[in-house]
Amino acid sequence: MDPARRSRYLEALGLEAWTLRRSIAPGPAAIVPAQRNELAAAPALPAVAGAAAPDWQTLRTAVAGCRKCRLCETRTNTVFGVGPEHAPLMVVGEGPGADEDAKGEPFVGRAGRLLDEMLRAIGRSRQSDTFIANVVKCRPPANREPADDEAEACRAYLEQQLRLVKPRLIVALGRIAAQRLLATDTPIGKMRGQTYRWGPDDTPLMVTYHPAYLLRNPGDKAKSWEDLKRIHRFLHAPPEARA
Ligand code: URA
Ligand code: SF4
Repeated sequence: MDPARRSRYLEALGLEAWTLRRSIAPGPAAIVPAQRNELAAAPALPAVAGAAAPDWQTLRTAVAGCRKCRLCETRTNTVFGVGPEHAPLMVVGEGPGADEDAKGEPFVGRAGRLLDEMLRAIGRSRQSDTFIANVVKCRPPANREPADDEAEACRAYLEQQLRLVKPRLIVALGRIAAQRLLATDTPIGKMRGQTYRWGPDDTPLMVTYHPAYLLRNPGDKAKSWEDLKRIHRFLHAPPEARA
């Protein structure tokens, strides 16, 4: 990894210099026995109607006009997602905040700037190779957590995005995304460091802290860096070491 990139991220994280001395040589990422999740077997919701695989345009149009849950009443813009349509890495957050609602793009506020730094630290970006989406596509008022029925109403869109992108690795950012994607209530601290499987293709999925959480809890930034290195190693490992 480019040391300048790494140090920019470490600077953004406010980490001590000792971290810099650690090597992050790519190697096979350790994969723990895959844990099956309920979503893998769950049928697509009828939202994106009967279509096993709607195309991008159909999906974009469906989200842009969606009124399936109450969040449609208070949104300014839907926030579909951003990034290359066949990105090898897909990152999933919770839901749009005020900045995202205003702009119609995910992670463009303070947490978004940190996310961009985190991606840059492992040589990635939303422009080049990372698709970014959220559990809900409309902003929950006052940045509250998405309610169960809202996340459920929006689930088919995220699932279809995951199926269209077909990333090599999914990263769930924070508790909400992790628990929704894996249909679990395991605390996030326990999910870090594991490799789960998502969906019909058993796509590898890793969990790490949400950048907004890191802004509030700088004490966990070093752990976030460990997770990023693991993500980086995974994406650089030879295919046979990834399975
Ligand atoms: N937090 C999220 O989870 N998603 C965004 O798009 C912005 C902030
Ligand atoms: Fe539709 Fe999702 Fe927005 Fe609810 S949050 S209105 S389900 S796009």
